[in-house]
Amino acid sequence: MKEYELIVIGTGPAGEKASVKAAYFGHRVAIIEKESLFGGAEVVTGTLPSKTLKETALFFSGKHEKGLFGIDRDLQRQVSIQDFMYRKNLITSSEAKEVRDNLLRHKVDIYQGIASFEDAHTLRVGPPADTLIRGEYILIATGSYPFHPSHIPFDKKRVHDSDSILQITRFPTSLCVLGAGVIGCEYATIFSTVGAKVYLVNDKKDILPHIDEEISSDLVRQMHESNIDILFNESVKHIEVPEDEGKPLKVFLASGRTLEVDMFLFAAGRSGNVSALGLEKLGITVDSRQAIKVDSAYRTTVPHIFAAGDVIGFPALASTSMEQGRLAVANMFKTKDLEQLPIVLPYGIYTIPEVSMVGITEQQAKAKQLPYMTGKARYADMPRGKIMGADDGFLKLVFETPSLIIKGVHVIGFIATELIHFAIHLIEEEKTLYYLIEHVYNYPTLHDLYKYAAYDGLSNVSGHKVKS
Ligand SMILES: Cc1cc2nc3c(=O)[nH]c(=O)nc-3n(C[C@H](O)[C@H](O)[C@H](O)COP(=O)(O)OP(=O)(O)OC[C@H]3O[C@@H](n4cnc5c(N)ncnc54)[C@H](O)[C@@H]3O)c2cc1C
Repeated sequence: MKEYELIVIGTGPAGEKASVKAAYFGHRVAIIEKESLFGGAEVVTGTLPSKTLKETALFFSGKHEKGLFGIDRDLQRQVSIQDFMYRKNLITSSEAKEVRDNLLRHKVDIYQGIASFEDAHTLRVGPPADTLIRGEYILIATGSYPFHPSHIPFDKKRVHDSDSILQITRFPTSLCVLGAGVIGCEYATIFSTVGAKVYLVNDKKDILPHIDEEISSDLVRQMHESNIDILFNESVKHIEVPEDEGKPLKVFLASGRTLEVDMFLFAAGRSGNVSALGLEKLGITVDSRQAIKVDSAYRTTVPHIFAAGDVIGFPALASTSMEQGRLAVANMFKTKDLEQLPIVLPYGIYTIPEVSMVGITEQQAKAKQLPYMTGKARYADMPRGKIMGADDGFLKLVFETPSLIIKGVHVIGFIATELIHFAIHLIEEEKTLYYLIEHVYNYPTLHDLYKYAAYDGLSNVSGHKVKS
């Protein structure tokens, strides 16, 4: 039986980054993957495919450029579903190959098949093959899969989860999305941008409850303008799927209302991918969403078995999963290069428009009884925003008074997920509004949003406001 210092299960971001790091530091590493395409939800079913569809939807609809150059590009009517999926498929296959190549470059041994524990140090790989390998350390990085509640009749043709929606063979004329979390909101805006009438069914009174309320209200406004009906405090009782695909699905809601739609997307939760592993043999338990409990070093209750990424639950992001994988390796082999995940983390939501935040929201400032004020700048007031047609949205600073220390930054609008990173450093280093106005930035840029939000914040403090 082959022996390794580390065996990693799963080639998603947690597994890939952990194994190449351990190999880079000179350890003998094997990785096991059950799918032929490597990269997990990041590459194959989640992050990159959905982000590519968003860019494709923006390109074909010409949404940002409408009215800008005198001639409008609206290719939507001429575009087939194959055209729509083309770049998504290209990115998935090239990134899946890149993950495999990266593992090979680092001389990580690759085993293809389903992994399960024989005992606490031995893993069985198969089918298709049947191989036993032994690891001194083991990292479980098996990710998560879309939760399937029994009242939703998933058929992968018209009733989808976030995996099967990527394989549709025609555009939906209308779509009901259940779940106004990140995935639900992202797909709602993608499909409305390519012309579908979208209903977003949400069991709460607001969407994306962890983001700043002013930002989520603005997102709701922009979604309404994009032909998305958000049904708040609502849920789905059951769905009738007619035999004849020409007839609409009937979605029966808790309020008594019935929606007639072409397709349905369930986007209301995921569960840890643990069922094949045989964790019960080792006494490793999971919670109701099949997430494995770990300590701050990403160690399970069995000291040489670690777990990272979606399989340990919140925050279940590619961005954090890869760092958790690296941290697990740092803790196993005492590499001393990484201690812990930073406290200040960015959150990015790739809706149309994008939303991103770092630090505290206004609501959190209130709850903490922190004396605070805000400063805002609008894309429409930035020359770069006007030139590019990126003129809807704003950046908001939440700062403490009287110190003027920046505590939270919230952006809704074009490339918000890129603009936000500067804010990590502002918050970590406790910069004040003066830091922003003392620096010179390239002009014209969207980065100017920071400077003008700082001026707005100062004018709010002084009470001398020229522009409302
Ligand atoms: C639609 C969607 C959009 C998303 N968008 C974003 C985003 O914009 N930004 C972001 O940061 N995150 C995003 N995410 C989340 C992100 O994709 C996940 O957090 C991330 O992929 C989790 O990484 P992981 O390594 O833990 O697991 P995964 O990526 O799920 O990888 C797990 C791997 O393990 C393999 N595996 C499972 N069980 C076994 C077994 N028994 N034997 C062998 N192999 C096994 C699987 O086949 C898979 O390849 C999105 C997710 C979805 C679904």
